[in-house]
Amino acid sequence: MNRRCPKPRQDSPYLGSKNVTPHFEKVRQLLRQLPGLGHRSAERLALYLLVEKPEKLKPIVEALEQASQVVHRCSRCGSLTETELCEVCADAKREPHSLCIVEQVPDLMAIERSQAHRGTYHVLHGRLSPINGVGPNDLNLSSLEKRIQSEPITEVVLALGNDIEAEATCHYLLELIHGIKPKIKVSRIGFGLPSGSGLTFADVATLRSALEGRRDVGT
Ligand SMILES: [Zn+2]
Repeated sequence: MNRRCPKPRQDSPYLGSKNVTPHFEKVRQLLRQLPGLGHRSAERLALYLLVEKPEKLKPIVEALEQASQVVHRCSRCGSLTETELCEVCADAKREPHSLCIVEQVPDLMAIERSQAHRGTYHVLHGRLSPINGVGPNDLNLSSLEKRIQSEPITEVVLALGNDIEAEATCHYLLELIHGIKPKIKVSRIGFGLPSGSGLTFADVATLRSALEGRRDVGT
């Protein structure tokens, strides 16, 4: 027997209605393709920007257009930048021997807020996920290989969360790194992080203890 109480319906009168205009429907469908937006959220966002607060639409569109012209990946680590190198890579005070690998830019930002890592970063822009068709060639790995070969890195911290896909990615990274330089110390964070939620939503104290409590996965 299903004991779960059904959620109260909060659908707008537009949902599934024949009153939806073709242009509204197009916006809704495009928004649905964005990460984290389901059918209902996409519809709410479309309604908000087109009907409820249309004055907010123009600044958002303009900001997106401007950002798309100047924001790109850092040529070294893959983080966001508007110059050749990101702020961390351009900072000569960062510890060059310690490299922290993260899945996404927000993970990097979360670790920076914790101030628990004084080295550099490398952003994979994803993780291995055979079920979703994401393989090694889809990740930011070629520049990682070059960095392992050419930079004075002696320690790599894998900061990739703790679910199955992150586990598989860490295993792949360990083999990749040790295939180039077997003596690099590789460790992995994970203690105290909520399962499957990644790093982005962890609070500063949790992230700091996860980094400080990192465990070796191979030397
Ligand atoms: Zn960088």
